[in-house]
Amino acid sequence: MTKLFEPAACQVDLRTGAMSAATGAYQKRFRDLAGLYADEAAFSAMRENWNDTVVYEVSEFRPNERSGDLIFGTTRMLPGKVGDEYFVTRGHIHRQSDRPEIYYGQKGSGLMLLESPEGEVRIVAIDARTVCYVPPCWIHRSVNIGGEELVMLFCYPADSGQDYDCIAKAGGMRVRIVDDGEGGWKQVDNSSWRKRDAATIAALYGLEKKEKSA
Ligand code: MN
Repeated sequence: MTKLFEPAACQVDLRTGAMSAATGAYQKRFRDLAGLYADEAAFSAMRENWNDTVVYEVSEFRPNERSGDLIFGTTRMLPGKVGDEYFVTRGHIHRQSDRPEIYYGQKGSGLMLLESPEGEVRIVAIDARTVCYVPPCWIHRSVNIGGEELVMLFCYPADSGQDYDCIAKAGGMRVRIVDDGEGGWKQVDNSSWRKRDAATIAALYGLEKKEKSA
């Protein structure tokens, strides 16, 4: 008889953002995010109090990494700003870039910042009970624009993988999300961002691989 994976029910704790029955978890501390923010002086000044603080954490349920299966979990981000720039996650594109993802807002107020390999930008607001669809091939990063913790559920194909370097290699994402001075947010251009060359764009779409194997 085929041995099937056992069904699971995971409870999300809105206070901590943690998910029960998770198979794994990871945390990012403030110090891990050096180089992400425009205002390096503000980042350095904040290290005194914030250095070891867990600024976001992920609990995940990862049955395996086989094609056709799913990985899901919760992410919890602290509210805050470095200078006038709202706290962000590191961000990534899926290593198999044609794999999509769903985020579901549970608590707080956030944005999904998306960027295509060519540098098109999209911003999707995620509040509690918002489902956000991240289509294939978009670089994505979460931003907490609220005054409380941002808790979201996520789900993506188990064989997606993550490529974090694509952002650093371009000098960051094309836009930053900053305080507009009126309690809201606005996008500003990231002056360090560099347009990707054609070969890099093709690689992010996975076209090189397909041409080689064709
Ligand atoms: Mn993802």
